[in-house]
Amino acid sequence: MNIDSRLHHLKENEVLELMSRYYNNEKTTELIKEYNLNITPGVLYTVFPPEKFDDIKCPVCNLPMLRKRAARTSYRYNNNKIYCENCGHVEGGSCRCSHCIEVARIEKKRIQEEQERINYEKRCLINEVYDLNKKEKIGLEKLSFRSRVYLGALIRAGITEDMMSVIPILEMDRNVSPRVGYTQEMIRDLIKNQVIVVSPNSSLDAFPDSDEETEFPYLYYTLKVKYALNIEFQEDYTENVANIMNPDELSKEDSEEAAKIWREVALEECLEYFEFQMKEVNFNAAIGEKTIATFKDLLEKFSVSKIYGIIYRSVANATRYYQQGGVSKKQASNSVIGNCQRYAERAVIENW
Ligand SMILES: [Zn+2]
Ligand SMILES: [Zn+2]
Repeated sequence: MNIDSRLHHLKENEVLELMSRYYNNEKTTELIKEYNLNITPGVLYTVFPPEKFDDIKCPVCNLPMLRKRAARTSYRYNNNKIYCENCGHVEGGSCRCSHCIEVARIEKKRIQEEQERINYEKRCLINEVYDLNKKEKIGLEKLSFRSRVYLGALIRAGITEDMMSVIPILEMDRNVSPRVGYTQEMIRDLIKNQVIVVSPNSSLDAFPDSDEETEFPYLYYTLKVKYALNIEFQEDYTENVANIMNPDELSKEDSEEAAKIWREVALEECLEYFEFQMKEVNFNAAIGEKTIATFKDLLEKFSVSKIYGIIYRSVANATRYYQQGGVSKKQASNSVIGNCQRYAERAVIENW
């Protein structure tokens, strides 16, 4: 073993004796004098030969590993890493010796290849389950008015350049509908009626892994998958799609359903604006039956933009109420819907 040059004038048993006396707490300055050492007392332990582990061999060189001595104050807790004097390998996971770098490289490659294999298998399953050729397309004329409106909104927000599919809703620049819950309802309706189908070109992370309840890839995230149009178009495909995006005049037989959809969308817009204003002032916008009933009622008398005004004032009043003290934030939040109702009633009575 290499002995520090400053201990060369000592015999091996003298070095061992010096170490033993040092760790037995004898005065360092006196030990230095007695053994005739040229070293600062505080770092005496650093010149001691390292501890040798005959039972821990270097994985590269198969030589016993070493560990530097600790100061006697921390002797019981020697935190120095175990290392190989020959190749520089260090135990404990953070080694950057060429051997460990190579081991890490091979492991990384193995994980990568494993992931690629898993992804390939996943892709095959998706292609099989969502094979577009297995889906029976439905005729354009079979679409209900509602389906056409939903589909029109969906493709306006995110049809692909080739007009064959719809990008994931989460990647769209604009909202399909005022609130995500309504968008999901639209998607469910379109899927149920087979107007759209999940595209096998969807990204892998749009499908959760299998667990006890589900089997890959039968479950998917509505907002993450791509959709393919499942419609049997006649004649010019592009023209058909363009016509769904920008439909002709509303026909008389559709007017009742159109009014129904209009009411739904108007309600969603009110709820969206309500959520937005509540969030602005850090109020909790819990939308329950009372909230929905109130806005439905207001929509009988006011336009959406007038209701926006009513919401704005009611939230502002509730905020002031809260800031004046005496009520909790929850009470103030809960007062907003009542405020909307009262404000609307006064507007009617006083003919504002
Ligand atoms: Zn080694
Ligand atoms: Zn190493």
